[in-house]
Amino acid sequence: MSDPAAAQSFINLNALLDNPVFAGGFGLASLGAVLAFARRGALATAGMIRRRMLVNVEISRQDPSYPWILAWLSQPREQTSFLAKKLTRINKLSVTTSTSSTPNGSTRASFFLQPGYGRHIVKYKHAYIAVNREKQATARTNTGEPHETVELTTLYAHRHIFEDVFSEARALALQANEGKTVVYSVRNFDWVPLGEPRRKRPLGSVILDKGVKEDIVNDAKDFLARRQWYVDRGIPYRRGYLLYGPPGSGKSSFIQALAGELDFSVAMVNLSEIGVTDDKLAFLLTKLPERTILLLEDADSAFVNRRKRDADGYSGGTVTFSGLLNALDGLSAGEERIAFLTTNHVELLDPALIRPGRVDMMVRIGEATRYQAAQMWDRFYGDVDVDGTYRERFLKRLDDLGLFREATDSESPPRTSTAAIQGLFLFNKNDMEGAISMAEHLIPQKLEP
Ligand code: ADP
Repeated sequence: MSDPAAAQSFINLNALLDNPVFAGGFGLASLGAVLAFARRGALATAGMIRRRMLVNVEISRQDPSYPWILAWLSQPREQTSFLAKKLTRINKLSVTTSTSSTPNGSTRASFFLQPGYGRHIVKYKHAYIAVNREKQATARTNTGEPHETVELTTLYAHRHIFEDVFSEARALALQANEGKTVVYSVRNFDWVPLGEPRRKRPLGSVILDKGVKEDIVNDAKDFLARRQWYVDRGIPYRRGYLLYGPPGSGKSSFIQALAGELDFSVAMVNLSEIGVTDDKLAFLLTKLPERTILLLEDADSAFVNRRKRDADGYSGGTVTFSGLLNALDGLSAGEERIAFLTTNHVELLDPALIRPGRVDMMVRIGEATRYQAAQMWDRFYGDVDVDGTYRERFLKRLDDLGLFREATDSESPPRTSTAAIQGLFLFNKNDMEGAISMAEHLIPQKLEP
């Protein structure tokens, strides 16, 4: 027997479908549903194809390779086929300007073109790469700047090309810095290059007392050749140097020249700077670029701060003594790390600092000696003062002024700095007589009380 209720609803449905208004609406709705279903299917298929057939790499702004990739992308490329020419032109470029100071104090600006935000296509070897450079307004990096990424997409079959892209971009970056030393300084919570990379400073241009330079250079080279020795003994692979002495004796110049000699960059932090706190220093060290000398200037300020903190509980928003020790102790293991500390006031330092792994070598870079004055003379005037007659007169003059006299209990003779000698020579570039006659200016003037 048939169910009367079911028969009733069947009749109702028939009646409904016979109704032209309802049938039209129903038809449209079904069509919509089918289309929506098909669209979803197509999207899912496209997604699947995308996942299966395409590969992408995302590079975030924080990654060291980010600027390399941008530089690589902005390289002009010779495209042979019509399609490649049409497809692969980067029409939108953005410009980054960096300024640097030249030694004579003028400012030089340089411009660097890079692909703008948005989508581009580039052809590399036999593959097309879709590029999407995006700035995310909502996400911020710890420097407060918007988070930024570049995404490269290519066919799965061409995925190996990314290795070539990265190594070519890295080689390009290294080539651009060849013969140069990159100096990083701190901006917010990041290391940023301080102007353009500088031409490597030759070691020969820094004149320290006899043997001092060679001792440090040999020690650093020996350290760099001993990775396995450190690994085998489980000792953190780092070495610390402390250079102390009066200002203008060539400490910073030497560190920069050493970095050039070792093919390292320099990352410098001035510990007396307000805002460089313990946390910030520790964080920065986790991000130290590879093959970089860490230069902590004015190390004594950490000790001054300790006294201040002990006295009034406040260190003035700068690095404390324990912050400095933690930074040195935590300097990342695994990679080779060289740290230099400089100070003009060694008497303020704490002995806890002079310990292997923190400060392994402590060297005084002092006032100008006779040896240095002679070497500097030769560098400046050696080509005209061939037999050294003027040099001997100059040295005698400095002798007469007492600049090289040994200090005794009853007398502390005047001293001069290598920076002052350099200044005197620069003032008398083509005038050796002038340099000799103006030598008394090397004696520091006492300020009137
Ligand atoms: P410090 O770091 O000891 O204060 P710097 O390295 O900043 O000294 O030197 C200041 C200036 O004097 C630089 O321009 C540097 O070229 C010059 N100078 C100082 N000492 C020397 C030196 N020993 N040899 C060559 N140049 C020097």
